[in-house]
Amino acid sequence: MNVVPLFTERREALDLWNVTVRPWVDHTIRIRFVESGEKYWFIMAAESSNPDTNRSFYKVLSRSENQQRFRDGHEGEAYLRFGAYSKKYYADVKGDAICNCKHEKEDHAEEDHGCLYESCSCEKFESFQVNLLKKKKTVTDILFLDEGGVKDDPLAWNCLNANRYGRTG
Ligand SMILES: [Zn+2]
Ligand SMILES: [Zn+2]
Repeated sequence: MNVVPLFTERREALDLWNVTVRPWVDHTIRIRFVESGEKYWFIMAAESSNPDTNRSFYKVLSRSENQQRFRDGHEGEAYLRFGAYSKKYYADVKGDAICNCKHEKEDHAEEDHGCLYESCSCEKFESFQVNLLKKKKTVTDILFLDEGGVKDDPLAWNCLNANRYGRTG
């Protein structure tokens, strides 16, 4: 399975990968998911062959089906890849492209691009697509923790202590 941290800009994702993640030593990559109510912390760090450019990552995210599926299915190993969002509008896509409202482009009005389904509140066709960068790393140190278990894991413990009262993502 893939772990895919998402970035809004492809350029940003590529730069970060090339500068920071590429020198990471695969078997030292650690990923932690710390579940806390409806949220979870995604924490990632590794040893680098180029310590000058090394850094760790964390983000506080909402629990999701994807995260749940990964939790149930990863079996201790995953590919780390970066992804970048691209937003597509009415004029950018073919008729069978799916809007964020789950209806096809063809179900949206030509004039204002609003969805034609009466039950749908979508006012403008918009589609998020995620493009995966090709480069990947293999991660074999993946843990799911609840907040009570954080004490036993230095990476998660340090991250939560340093950031819990700071910015949230
Ligand atoms: Zn729509
Ligand atoms: Zn719709």
